Amino acid sequence: MSLRVRFAPSPTGYLHVGGARTALFNWLLARRAAGTFILRVEDTDADRSSEEMVQAILDGMEWLGLDWDEGPHFQSRGLDRHRADVSALVGSGAAYFDFTSPDELARLRTDDPDRALRFPREAADAVGADDAAKRSAAGEPHAVRFRVPDGETRWDDRVHGAMRFQNADLEDFVLLRTDGTPTYNLAVASDDAEQEISLVIRGDDHISNTPKQILIHEALGRSAPEYAHVPMILGPDGKRLSKRHGATAVGDYSAEGILSDAMVNFLALLGWSPGTDEEVMTREQLVERFSIDRVLKKSAVFDPTKLLWLNGQHLSRTPPEELVERVLVEMGELEAIARRESEANPEWFLGLLNLLKSRARRTVDLAEQARVYIVDTIDYDQDAITKHWKKDPQAVTVRMEALRERFSDVAWREEPLESELRALAEELKVGAGKLIHPLRVAVTGQAVSPGIFEVLVFMGRERTLTRLDRALNRLMTMAPRDEP
Ligand code: GLU
Repeated sequence: MSLRVRFAPSPTGYLHVGGARTALFNWLLARRAAGTFILRVEDTDADRSSEEMVQAILDGMEWLGLDWDEGPHFQSRGLDRHRADVSALVGSGAAYFDFTSPDELARLRTDDPDRALRFPREAADAVGADDAAKRSAAGEPHAVRFRVPDGETRWDDRVHGAMRFQNADLEDFVLLRTDGTPTYNLAVASDDAEQEISLVIRGDDHISNTPKQILIHEALGRSAPEYAHVPMILGPDGKRLSKRHGATAVGDYSAEGILSDAMVNFLALLGWSPGTDEEVMTREQLVERFSIDRVLKKSAVFDPTKLLWLNGQHLSRTPPEELVERVLVEMGELEAIARRESEANPEWFLGLLNLLKSRARRTVDLAEQARVYIVDTIDYDQDAITKHWKKDPQAVTVRMEALRERFSDVAWREEPLESELRALAEELKVGAGKLIHPLRVAVTGQAVSPGIFEVLVFMGRERTLTRLDRALNRLMTMAPRDEP
């Protein structure tokens, strides 16, 4: 039988990191094994589910590039089938009508918890199936419970290995509530059977539901799917990942400048490893390497620093053509000017992005770094000024004046610019750094940038000279005679 897996989110919130990771593992395995990836929206909790959240989940999946082969199926549309499954279970004696009032059961649970576990069954047996059917037909409110058989329930979990639960520890769980709505366990087992799911990959917070679902499948004479319960994701503080840890909806990461490929790579490593020290992987490489056997049992830790690092790695491998539009939008109030410049000289803008991307970790950083090549007037970083200008403003002035002079008629390419600067350093009997560092502050306002000669080329002669002039003016105000 070919592999059929599903991602079954409840649309009660956005697509969060944990859900996205579950979706990804299912998708990776389906793509790896040429199986079928099914999307099922578990919207049976009408009060907590919303259209908006369904859309948010679909958007999140789309952003991550997790395309599904079937669906989205909506669980709520399976209501008739869910009820038919329950009727079949009642018919075979595997389930029974429970007329116990919720108050009575609540009281028993506090007074006599052991008795409460099997009380509904005893009460139902006392009523008898025929009378129960009559009372039900007459409209008396009741739930339907599963009659948990004796013995134990086992499965061979694809992540955790042999699992066994003593059935005596399970209460006769509800299948249909008094209001006629199916419970989660019933709906999931019914849908997994209907959609012929062969392997259920989900978070290990569902482990305790698995014996119940297996029992339902068995009682309906169906074989249960296989199960793989993937480990929990913890925040950097070791606590279960939650909103406390900042952004947890995948859409937020997109807004923060994280690339979809980087997010996919990062999520894949939450609880799985390729078995080598390889970390930066494309989607195709992940598909090639992914296997359930390498999913770890122990919980995974969400490390935001690693996400940023991976993003930087993916960013530097992304062709600039794919980044242009996003960077332009992220330039904010400079977008229109930047767009004009990029349209007037596309090669220049692509080259600039290429130059900057190896140092940026996010596209927003890229947009931020691109600013200085576009604005008329730059801001100076105070630390950069203190470090490279203020210590000896007079000497810096002399050097910058000399550089300005030389740069005014040199051919504006890396090599001549570099030899010109080095020749000047020799003449002035200073190290090249004494020219390069103050020059970098003058043209970028920053103490760090890509290689200065590449920077100069992208800045252009005119802009460089104007910035040197402004720097010289500024340096004048710093001359020691003016210092207090
Ligand atoms: N709808 C459930 C959830 O979002 C998942 C159910 C399952 O995967 O079996 O937690």
